[in-house]
Amino acid sequence: MLFEGKEIRDEQVLAFLKGGLSPMERTEFEAALARSAALRAELERHRALLDALEASSDRTVSERVREQIRQAITRRASDIHIVPGARDVSVQLRVDGLLHEIARYRKEEHTAVVDRWKALADVSVMERQLPQDGRTLVQEGGQEYDVRVCFSPGVTGERVVARILNRNGVFMGLDRLGLSADQVETVRRIVGRPNGVVLATGPTGSGKTTVLYSLLQTLIEPGHERLAIMTAEDPVEVLLEGVTQVHIRRQAGLTFPVALRSFLRQDPDVIMAGAIQDLESAEVLIEAAVSGHLALSSLHAPDAAGAITRLTDMGVVPFLVADTLNGIISTRLVRMPCRSCLTEYEPAAADRERLGLSTADGPLTHGAGCEACQGTGYRGRTSLFEVLEVGPDLGRTLRHADNMEQVAREWLARNGITMRDDARRKVKESLTTVEEAARVLPE
Ligand SMILES: [Zn+2]
Repeated sequence: MLFEGKEIRDEQVLAFLKGGLSPMERTEFEAALARSAALRAELERHRALLDALEASSDRTVSERVREQIRQAITRRASDIHIVPGARDVSVQLRVDGLLHEIARYRKEEHTAVVDRWKALADVSVMERQLPQDGRTLVQEGGQEYDVRVCFSPGVTGERVVARILNRNGVFMGLDRLGLSADQVETVRRIVGRPNGVVLATGPTGSGKTTVLYSLLQTLIEPGHERLAIMTAEDPVEVLLEGVTQVHIRRQAGLTFPVALRSFLRQDPDVIMAGAIQDLESAEVLIEAAVSGHLALSSLHAPDAAGAITRLTDMGVVPFLVADTLNGIISTRLVRMPCRSCLTEYEPAAADRERLGLSTADGPLTHGAGCEACQGTGYRGRTSLFEVLEVGPDLGRTLRHADNMEQVAREWLARNGITMRDDARRKVKESLTTVEEAARVLPE
């Protein structure tokens, strides 16, 4: 920056603040300060930055943040929420889908805590008006965790939400997701075909991303033929060895369709788009499938058959859906009953009926609540699945069907395992409860 013909660099401003200038330099600097409002503003900016850095490197603050992360990991939390209120700040953990408060601290301490998180996540400490996203890697108990942190300014202060991802946990083999042996075999057939579209569906937070990563993992596992795989993700959640991953940046014009089209010019075997959000993305994926590629993506839809209607509602030509779909994997996350307090009980008749379970199916179980599960009766999560394979027969039938969704639904009920079937099995095996299944099943 130039002041009256002389350049004053950031280092000089910092040296002035830290008392690092020689007496002559100091006099000169102070004279410049007296004359220039711009330089005074610049000085204030640096002073604030220094204060923030000092506060955030304060040991008690960094120890506190470290403790928040450690607690989150020990309690198997997926997220940490730091929520400023009018007077104090609440620290909450999301465990098995539900938030629990673990600590409170005074509002005056909040800025230092936020700044420590900002320093960790490598975002600007100066920025307090706009939302920011950052990430960091944390080692704990021999495992590596990817921590993604979002900062959003609210009227009562900045809210911090940190999502914690165990880098080893995302790579669950297909057989560890909660699929039945039959379903694993079906899924392997679906992704084993050299071309076609494979979709993971469900509402937000149903585990679609984990399904997609597990599908990719089967394609890169040792012993599998070497494939050129390219993914477009928003954001890239986990780095995969040997896979080209592109981070979507809408503001810069790098949208799903733009990324996918560029992939197709680079001779891949498999492409994956994190999500189909519009007709254009759907069309590029179908185009990829038609031209001999395997195309994976996720779609917001209530169930496997509903995904077909979702695609045609977007404007995809129905016969293209019938011709290119290999299969759809629909999923829901459900809580598992706590093993330490598992007991027999009688659920509400309506919930029992909804799953098609009669009293003849025998007694059912739930967690009564104990210390191990903090009285909730639940510990850990598993998934419910339905897998719709669109083989040549179903493809032909769909091509001539007036109501493709209806045909697909009836086909699945006759030849496959519906999500309701899967829920019934898991309830009987005490892998989840009637209430959990009733909560997440599509109407
Ligand atoms: Zn318990």
